Amino acid sequence: MTEYALGIDLGTTNSCVAIVENGKPMIIANKSGYLTTPSIVAIAESGKRLIGQLAKRQAITNATNTVYSTKRLIGRSIGDPEVQECMNTLPFEIVEGPHEDVRVKMKDKLYSLPEISAMILSELHQVAEDYIGEPINQAIITVPAYFNDAQRQATIDAGKIAGLDVMRIINEPTAAAIAYGTQTKKRQTIAVFDLGGGTFDISILAIDDGVFNVLSTTGDTFLGGEDFDNRIIEHLVLLFAREHNIDLREDPMAMQRLKIAAEKAKCDLSQLPSVEINLPFIQTSSDGTALHLNAILTRDEFENLVIDLVKRTLKICQVALMDANVTQNDIDEVVLVGGMTRMPLVQMAVSEFFHTNPAKNINPDEVVAIGAAIQADELLHQGMQHILLDVTPLDLGIAVHGGNFFVITPKNTTIPCSNSTVFTTSFDNQTSLKIVVLQGEHTVANDNQVLAEFTFSGIRPAPAGEVDVEITFDVDADGIVNVTARDLETQKEHVVSISRSSNLTQEEIDRMFKENADYLASEKLGEEARNVAAHLKNDVQALRTLVQTHSLPDSISSYVLTLIKKATSAMESPDDPQMLKVLSNDIENAIHLIEESA
Ligand code: AMP
Repeated sequence: MTEYALGIDLGTTNSCVAIVENGKPMIIANKSGYLTTPSIVAIAESGKRLIGQLAKRQAITNATNTVYSTKRLIGRSIGDPEVQECMNTLPFEIVEGPHEDVRVKMKDKLYSLPEISAMILSELHQVAEDYIGEPINQAIITVPAYFNDAQRQATIDAGKIAGLDVMRIINEPTAAAIAYGTQTKKRQTIAVFDLGGGTFDISILAIDDGVFNVLSTTGDTFLGGEDFDNRIIEHLVLLFAREHNIDLREDPMAMQRLKIAAEKAKCDLSQLPSVEINLPFIQTSSDGTALHLNAILTRDEFENLVIDLVKRTLKICQVALMDANVTQNDIDEVVLVGGMTRMPLVQMAVSEFFHTNPAKNINPDEVVAIGAAIQADELLHQGMQHILLDVTPLDLGIAVHGGNFFVITPKNTTIPCSNSTVFTTSFDNQTSLKIVVLQGEHTVANDNQVLAEFTFSGIRPAPAGEVDVEITFDVDADGIVNVTARDLETQKEHVVSISRSSNLTQEEIDRMFKENADYLASEKLGEEARNVAAHLKNDVQALRTLVQTHSLPDSISSYVLTLIKKATSAMESPDDPQMLKVLSNDIENAIHLIEESA
């Protein structure tokens, strides 16, 4: 039996699943027949979960119970400025969780961000299993290269809640480079420019006959298509306020309509010089008159609204080139990834900046999942034709005296890696050392993300500077960090696995896994019951016709009528497929009996 592993691009706006079948990577279409699935989750009035296109379609009428862009929130703390910004712009409720983490509210229930991602993963998992027709448990999930440890951990938690065995987390630009690199044998230095719905990543890679060596990676986890949409929304809100003196931001349903219209206008402007935005009946004035929003947006106007965002991406590209020790002229090819790279201004800016036209024949929406599937298939079958040398996206180190950040593993170090530094006691008779593990790029310790805090105790009392403690940072192939403190005199060790920095406890993950699995099982049962009920409906109809057209002995006629009554009532709320199957069987037997006795 062929084994399969999934490659999943879990995007801010859209997600996508791929597998390798008969040696060829392919995207699997979702239940609606599309190759990408909107990363949108909703809870309908009935309590049913809606994912993807189904959730998107009802987003306007169910704005407060429809969540999206949650990748911008995953792995963050409630106090992060980015989270505060989302609280102001997103129409659903964002609240603080039990561990200063972020939760979202739908239908009075709070959900952690990994739970929301797990719902999307479960949907993709299911379409892949339905396509292959057998269980698939393993997957590679991609993340923005610039995701920190907490964001990576939270993505792994999402995989666990969805019941997936996450073989590896790989960076989106690296996955794109794998997909691109398998098409070429040439030795090349490439730039992967990835501007998606919520994040921007740029990676510089040297690829040479199956070896993918990431030279540098950097980005901004809060720069993407959503920001472009928000500029159009702000523009329209302002126009409307000027004309009617009404602030549309106070109306979630109007904001949801604006969001959809803004994104559509943005995408259309990639093809057209201008677009018309019409949102009839968006508000009612104080005297009860219906108010409409009608506006024309030209491509030039739109480009003016967002030019600073495009320039921000180029500044980040400059940093990536410097970190990789190369210049624009060393770049042989630019691979564009992410839906936003369809925007003409982005393409033009990138071509000008890198002095080269971007690679053709690459679908920016699918290339990441394809690369992940290629890598997953190789890991599964141990046939590593490609060697991946990825890097750490951010500096890793500890807080030292004076509130400074001491870097132990600098950003862009090839992973897996292990780096050590020896520290000595800083005052006489110091018996313990407080270690604050940080990740970030700021020289001031407090400005970086705290990954863990622990106290290393049991140090021999001695004059300052006499006892040495070695601190080692190990980063695995997923970019996940482990820290060890070792007393070099006694060899005593304290290992801290920074495995719970996603802010969910193991109990919470187990509970969320069970809830998700129970929900999926009951959905499956419900679907099976509905299918059997549809079949049963035809049988009941056939039996009714037979009863009407045949003169049957009273005993049989009464049995058949009771059977029809039972089946009709069971079909009213079809939730037990077993019972429906028994009834279906009885009806089919009755039909045969009547037909044979005729
Ligand atoms: P991704 O995260 O790669 O799925 O990218 C999604 C982002 O790309 C969203 O913000 C989309 O609105 C945007 N996008 C998709 N198609 C286009 C297009 N033709 N022109 C401009 N932006 C687009």
